[in-house]
Amino acid sequence: MYETLSLYIDGQFIGAEGRKTQAVTNPADGSVLAQLPHATREDLDRALAAAQRAFGEWKRVSPLERSAILRKAAGLLRERSKDIARNIVLDMGKPMAEAVGEVLSCAEHTEWNAEEGRRIYGRVIPPRNDQVRQFVVREPVGVCAAFTPWNFPASQAIRKIAAALASGCTIVLKGPEDAPSACVALARAFHDAGLPPGVLNLVWGVPPEVSKHLIESPIVRKISFTGSVPVGRQLAAMAAQHMKRSTMELGGHSPVIVFDDADVERAADLLQAFKFRNAGQVCVSPTRFYLHEKIYDRFLARFIEKTREMKVGSGLEEGVKMGPLAHERRVPQMEAFVEDANMRGGCIELGGGRVSEAGSFFAPTIVTNVPDDSLLMTSEPFGPIAPFVRFKDTDEVIRRANSLPYGLASYVFTTSLKNAHAASTGIEAGMVNINHFGMALAETPFGGIKDSGWGSEGGVETFDGYLNTKFVTQLN
Ligand code: NAD
Repeated sequence: MYETLSLYIDGQFIGAEGRKTQAVTNPADGSVLAQLPHATREDLDRALAAAQRAFGEWKRVSPLERSAILRKAAGLLRERSKDIARNIVLDMGKPMAEAVGEVLSCAEHTEWNAEEGRRIYGRVIPPRNDQVRQFVVREPVGVCAAFTPWNFPASQAIRKIAAALASGCTIVLKGPEDAPSACVALARAFHDAGLPPGVLNLVWGVPPEVSKHLIESPIVRKISFTGSVPVGRQLAAMAAQHMKRSTMELGGHSPVIVFDDADVERAADLLQAFKFRNAGQVCVSPTRFYLHEKIYDRFLARFIEKTREMKVGSGLEEGVKMGPLAHERRVPQMEAFVEDANMRGGCIELGGGRVSEAGSFFAPTIVTNVPDDSLLMTSEPFGPIAPFVRFKDTDEVIRRANSLPYGLASYVFTTSLKNAHAASTGIEAGMVNINHFGMALAETPFGGIKDSGWGSEGGVETFDGYLNTKFVTQLN
């Protein structure tokens, strides 16, 4: 049974009941799974009022008590992980194993925030006069509005929910209409864990209409968005106009650098699996492959071999490593990248088009010989297309890696300390992975620089977005 889709406002799950609805489809076959109710303006105002009222109480709930509720919700997510994951496969398309992993990571994030939220400390500053006491205290910012995308429909949302709640904030979340089941399941877990009404609210609708309404509301004090750079720019501008704090987790175009001293086969195997995870629809997906000219042919041969072995199909099928693109509209977007590469002298080594008539499947695609200013090398494909180019020396490759306005993730494979140091200090990115992938853990900060946004999610840095700093000075 697919999730019963609803709004969640002031502790109540609300169905369509005459509201406008939107069909949710399965990208593996185009079938309609369910109808998603859109919030009316009155619903949005009720969610805001509920979050405002609940904030007055939730900020006073002790961190210990908040922690207990978060831990309970995490336990429920673990118990329900298979069912929640199956629904993610149905509405988003990723393979079952990836979906289960995503839900379990939500439980981990919730547990980590439950614990770390108990350690949000202030500080005492030595005074100039011994009759004065000076304190710095951290206080929750208030009602947050969050907007999350469809590629990790559970984990993108939980990072915002768990951090907001652990900080003592309340939240109105607009989840992804294309893949809504996960956010409803998260709301059910928190509801069943005993979260007071109004602390978490979930709404759906036409994205620009909902975001405008929420961001402009004087009730909202903080905005958090994960999605594309163009939408991030619009929301950040709106937030700035109303003097609201914001966290922006935006797109990337992650460079991969494989030096000639790397363990080439290991690098190719790891990068192949990571590139096609979630059909490449990952903001930190390895995107531009800079391969040292001495190892280029070996790396390419191994990468192609591994990609040929990869099973593409419905995420519910055993052994499938790559599912369909999340939505039919994404297929022509991929075709445009391939067409531009073709026009600019690129060579399609593998794939290059739609896999079947039914469903939005796009073949894992490998392109060589594309110029640095081609569409593929400059715009985020957000899909299963990997362009490979050669480089000769370290300074040159770091300059090319930094040539785009993005600055999210980056990947380096080398056995030389000198190259590792040059890359980790030279690359302009929020995250540098050397010889493995180690990002997006609950305890480590995740975020971009340059056009990829600002603010971190994960790690203790996550709380900076949800806390005000207050200075108190007191004369005895
Ligand atoms: P899109 O830009 O239309 O939408 C991306 C996400 O933002 C969706 O979840 C959408 O509902 C939401 N959104 C769009 N307009 C909004 C608004 N005005 N207010 C609030 N939310 C809004 O693109 P798409 O076709 O759905 O996805 C493709 C692009 O989205 C990719 O190229 C990629 O850059 C970006 N994307 C990024 C991430 C990420 O993790 N950073 C995730 C999903 C999509």
